[in-house]
Formats: sequence, C-alpha cells, structure tokens
Amino acid sequence: AKQSGRSTLRFFDPDMQRLALERAVLEIDLRKARFDDEFELYYQPQRGRDGSLIGAEALLRWNHPTRGLLNPNEFIPLAEEIGVIVPLGAWVMERACAQAAAWQQAGNRPLQSMAVNVSARQFLQANFADMVQGVLQRTGLDPNLLKLELTETLLVKDIEGTAIKMAALKRLGVRFALDDFGTGYSSLSLLRKLPLDQLKIDQSFIQRIEHDDGDDKLVHSIIALGKTLKMNVLAEGVEKPAQERILSRHGCDEFQGFLYGRPEPASQFRH
Ligand code: C2E
Ligand code: CA
Ligand code: CA
Ligand code: CA
Repeated sequence: AKQSGRSTLRFFDPDMQRLALERAVLEIDLRKARFDDEFELYYQPQRGRDGSLIGAEALLRWNHPTRGLLNPNEFIPLAEEIGVIVPLGAWVMERACAQAAAWQQAGNRPLQSMAVNVSARQFLQANFADMVQGVLQRTGLDPNLLKLELTETLLVKDIEGTAIKMAALKRLGVRFALDDFGTGYSSLSLLRKLPLDQLKIDQSFIQRIEHDDGDDKLVHSIIALGKTLKMNVLAEGVEKPAQERILSRHGCDEFQGFLYGRPEPASQFRH
C-alpha cells in the first residue's frame, strides 16, 4: 500500500506531468508533419588517410514549425516508438540517394559513399530490401555508393533474418557499416557472420584518446580487429589533430568529426 501511495504521488509530480504533456504534443506534431516541408538532411564529410573526401553521412534534422531546429536525439526515439520512423526513414533513404545521384551527375568530385542511418524498427520491416531497391531504381544511384549504417542492437535481434536481408541487399551492391561500435553487446561471432564492410568506432572512445591510455589501447585493438576481419575502420567524433595522429598511427582508414566538418545542409556541403 505504501508503495502504491508513493507511485501515485509520483504520478502527480508536476515535472513528470509536463514531460508527459510535451511528449504527447511532440507525438501529435510528428504524426502530422509533412516530411518535405519540415525535415531536412544535413551531410557530414568522411575523409581518407590522405585527407581526401571519401563520402558523406546523412543526418536528419526537424525544422519544427514552432520549436525551431531539432536534433535527432530529440525525436528519433519517439519516431521509433510510434512507428513514424518507417515512412520517415524511407523519406531519408529517398532524399539521401537522390542527393548523392545529383552530386555524381553534377560532375563534382565523386563521392565513394553516401551513408544512411537505419533504425531497427525500419530494418525489421518485411519490405525493407524492396524499399531500398525501389529507391535505387528511382534515383538511379549506383548501389555501390549506398552504405547503410546499422547498430549492434539491431543486429542481435534476429541474426538469421538479418543475415538473409543483408545478403539480398549485398547482391544489389549495397554496403554496410556497423555504427557506434563498442557501445552495444555484439559478439565477435556476429562480426564474422554478417557481411559488414565497415566498423565505425564510437566517438566515446575517441573523445579522450590523447589523454587516456586505456582508450588508446582499446581503439588500437578495435582497429586491429577490423583489419583481421578485412573490414574498413572509421573513427567517429574526431575533433583534434592529436586524435587524428594517434588514429592514423594505429592504421585507421577513415575519419569523421568536427575536425573535418560539421553536418551541413546540402547547399553548404563542400566537395
Ligand atoms: P550517429 O549515427 O552516431 O551520428 C553521429 C552524431 O555525432 C551526429 O549527431 C553528428 O552530428 C555527431 N558528431 C559528428 N562529429 C562529431 C564530433 O566531432 N563531435 C561530436 N561531439 N559530435 C559529432 P546527430 O546528427 O545529432 O545525430 C544523432 C543520432 O541520431 C545519430 O548518431 C543517429 O543514431 C541518429 N540519426 C541521425 N539521422 C538519422 C536518420 O536519418 N535515421 C535514423 N534512424 N537515425 C538517425
Ligand atoms: Ca551513423
Ligand atoms: Ca555513430
Ligand atoms: Ca551515436
């Protein structure tokens, strides 16, 4: 009785009520949002060892009608929860591929990849591979240029099903990156069973690499692991030249972070 009394009190906590209300309002806004008007993709450069531009990662922004520009952390979890991520993720795929195709055709320095984040709920849809194939056909993008970023949490959900789906997309030429590597619970066997092309070392391991010997050693072994498994290794969240030097010495193949460029709207993305 005491327990329920306490939780009843908590239910009327004004902070909790405000949060619940905010979430409910955001849910309504998200459900009725017109993607073309309110959402925008920003692009962040990915660089090679010689500093050349290799690719871009598409990162979603919501130009909310009253709240201004929202970062994905403020709405992606909700979009996943209520299922809006499925049509929204398809919109992202279409826009990112169309942009990459346009950049290729404009004769700019060609990108080797356009990386698109895929959420678990989206990937687990039965028609996910068909959706991607449709986008590739409509936009005319070379499938080899599309890189899908998946997370460990997604991959461990249904390894068999995931492997089949990935194989179907690989047959088209699509590539895969394992995002936020090191923060999830993936086993080494998972890395061997799935056709992954790239490991993206999470930024939390890079942040203090120049000060923390433990992080330095850890990152060194992640890079070695990637090499052993014949995967390309990219370090995320590189902000300082000192970090790049260490990563480079350890043999890291690609770099992404504020040191090279922040995510920018397509019109400002320099290449
Ligand atoms: P992520 O895929 O790990 O993306 C990297 C995040 O780190 C981006 O945040 C990027 O702006 C930020 N970042 C890049 N370089 C640096 C750096 O040097 N320092 C620091 N401190 N941060 C850096 P953003 O754009 O806010 O995206 C957050 C997360 O939202 C992404 O993390 C991704 O998980 C998710 N997300 C973004 N766009 C999409 C999307 O289209 N679909 C899905 N499902 N998720 C998305
Ligand atoms: Ca990502
Ligand atoms: Ca990441
Ligand atoms: Ca992340």
